[in-house]
Amino acid sequence: MRWGRTSGGPCVSVRVPAKLNLFLSVRGRRPDGYHELVTVFQSVSLYDRVRAGLIGPPGQGHHPAARRRMRVALWHDAGPGVPSGTENLAVRAARALGSAAGVIDLAFVDARALRPADPEVDHASSPYTVIDLRKSIPVGAGMAGGSADAAAALVALNELWACELSRDDLRAVAAHIGSDVPFCVVGGTALATGRGTALAQVLCRGTFHWVVCTADQPLPTADVYRSWDHNCTVNEVQPDAVVQALRTTDPEALGAALHNDLEPAAFALRPQLREQRDALLDAGALGAVLSGSGPTLLALTESAEAATGVCKLMESDFHSVRVATSPAGGPELHPC
Ligand code: ATP
Repeated sequence: MRWGRTSGGPCVSVRVPAKLNLFLSVRGRRPDGYHELVTVFQSVSLYDRVRAGLIGPPGQGHHPAARRRMRVALWHDAGPGVPSGTENLAVRAARALGSAAGVIDLAFVDARALRPADPEVDHASSPYTVIDLRKSIPVGAGMAGGSADAAAALVALNELWACELSRDDLRAVAAHIGSDVPFCVVGGTALATGRGTALAQVLCRGTFHWVVCTADQPLPTADVYRSWDHNCTVNEVQPDAVVQALRTTDPEALGAALHNDLEPAAFALRPQLREQRDALLDAGALGAVLSGSGPTLLALTESAEAATGVCKLMESDFHSVRVATSPAGGPELHPC
């Protein structure tokens, strides 16, 4: 069954960008197991697309408050490393939004059960919400791809289910899903504290040009924080130089100020990352830094042409290299 033929019912699509950490300082481990952070997030022009549609009889109320019981399915496998069940962050977002909107029972169903060949399924009386993920953000790469999908699902389902929550309301729901999700709901540029969920907008003028260098093997975030616990100590580095460079559109100053306390922890697990970062600097980058918990490395350049040049020089050193610009906006809602 093709997506467009699901029901002819309502459908929305959200384009959502990945995030960069231009600055990330770890201020220690908290009693709740999370780490206390000071970080500057910025959205970047690598996008996932999340579509959400309703399958069911026309005219049935789909607002969670009207339905009380709902069923959600993932349309198809979104690729290697992406969970296809309830652990998928987009499904967790559907649950969180449903519960905020008063749904008492939100069940996850296997999309294969929606195939018309299955005589057990009564399509006429079984409304489903179907979520379809088209991923372009690298998985397990420190670019918050799963969190971006969760944010996009919140925005899409808020529209599809007519929940009428504001972006601020969605941010509050997002904090229950994961630390990066509240930022992904708003996008742009923000200073985050706490476990990354307390956000203050940061002024950013102009556009910055990046080379995004990804590895073929993901680096689990939990392993990197465990390595930080064993190998690193708290410092008090401040984000002021990054904030100033963003305000004055100064790529050279930004390149010098890029900072990530997780680098030694990630480099202890993957020593070649240090050499690759240094190679990006030798190739002419103004600055190079690990993205979040890695293993993606980000190289800042002075222009789009310079980014293309670094890309060409470095393409054989990485699984994939892509040019991108920042800041990107937040999640954008479109008709299907
Ligand atoms: P983190 O936000 O933990 O730093 P990350 O940015 O490094 O993660 P993600 O692409 O978000 O990387 O994937 C982290 C893990 O989240 C994956 O290993 C995967 O098992 C899980 N995950 C859940 N839902 C998704 C999703 N929709 N897309 C990608 N990964 C997902």
